[in-house]
Amino acid sequence: MPMKPRRIFLQKAGLSAFALSLPVFNSVSAMTAFSNSAGREDKPLRVAIMGLGSYGTRVADAMQTCKRAKLVGVISGTPSKIETWKTKYGIPAKNCYNYQNYSQIKNNPDIDAVYVTTPNALHKENVIGVANAGKHAICEKPLSINAADAEEMVKVCKAANVQLLVGYRMHFEPKTLEVIRMRAAGEFGKVLFFQGLSGFIIGDPTQWRLNPVLSGGGAMMDIGVYSINGARYMIGEEPIWVTAQEVKTDPIKFKEGIDETITFQMGFPGGAVASCLSTYALNNLDKFYLDGTKGFAEMQPSTGYGPIKAKTHKGEIDIPHVTHQTVQMDEMAAIILDGKKPIVPVDGIEGWKDMKIVDAIFEAVKTGKKVMLT
Ligand code: NAD
Repeated sequence: MPMKPRRIFLQKAGLSAFALSLPVFNSVSAMTAFSNSAGREDKPLRVAIMGLGSYGTRVADAMQTCKRAKLVGVISGTPSKIETWKTKYGIPAKNCYNYQNYSQIKNNPDIDAVYVTTPNALHKENVIGVANAGKHAICEKPLSINAADAEEMVKVCKAANVQLLVGYRMHFEPKTLEVIRMRAAGEFGKVLFFQGLSGFIIGDPTQWRLNPVLSGGGAMMDIGVYSINGARYMIGEEPIWVTAQEVKTDPIKFKEGIDETITFQMGFPGGAVASCLSTYALNNLDKFYLDGTKGFAEMQPSTGYGPIKAKTHKGEIDIPHVTHQTVQMDEMAAIILDGKKPIVPVDGIEGWKDMKIVDAIFEAVKTGKKVMLT
């Protein structure tokens, strides 16, 4: 099918239809923004990835087509993985570290930031290690395994004068941003309901995701956080209370400290309620639904690697798919290097806010009571 001229322009300019449709953008400012960023391409954000597992590899592959971010280093406890990455991604030996010596990264002027993609419970120690080495930290979700740890991570990074960003790739996904733009513009009227469904059937019972010492929890830490975070950016408010209920059908696979299925509800100051499900026991659960007095948005899939599908009462949202991690890393480079303000924040405080909600959900499950968040 021949491409529409507007789409060709958008792709060439590296801009989404959303960016162009924002009130603050007119065609002149959009083009200026583009030409400025093109002009700065000689100064990329030079990133080392810590934890060369499945997601670290996905980020590394996506970074190969980045314009502003560049993969230049690794931190790994497995020498054979370092050798593979050196060859596959052209990483110089001088930018390779292990967990015993990575504090030395502070003496390496060729690395600006470290992207932490290790198991959840290691994020705190790893991010603090990166901050103490004077490098910016990008940390995968969940930022930590509880709010107290998240707070400490935010404070340590601030004191070290480095930025802390959370790998919330959906905050840069064009269809998600278009729904957020429509909601902010009042196109759905008064938003009163959000539904977030996040689930998949988890396999191998020996994996770290089912070991509470490394995961800090089960489905909630892994994918429930998408519904929590999604409710916040789709509704555009911070929740003031939560209630939650847990169901466990397999207490052997989902041992103490590993939640299998949790349903939870959040109340928002404007009167909206969110009704969410987080589970490791069902597939086909990746859906957001937002309803207001004038219209709705439905996204399914809503947080997978894409293509994301989104429709509203006005019809299908037709914006080309982008590789989430490529756009995320280019945008994070602009945030760190140029002080660019993202439309939906991705700093450590955002991750901390989500962890406060996770804590409240676990407390509500335990006590059976409504937990206030303010
Ligand atoms: P993984 O098991 O594939 O990779 C984890 C890596 O950490 C491995 O290379 C492992 O060797 C390393 N590691 C370092 N120290 C370790 C230790 N003490 N024990 C175990 N492993 C150790 O896991 P993954 O799927 O890549 O997930 C890593 C992180 O990325 C998690 O926090 C997860 O929530 C997040 N993640 C995010 C997304 C997303 O879409 N944003 C998707 C998948 C995973």
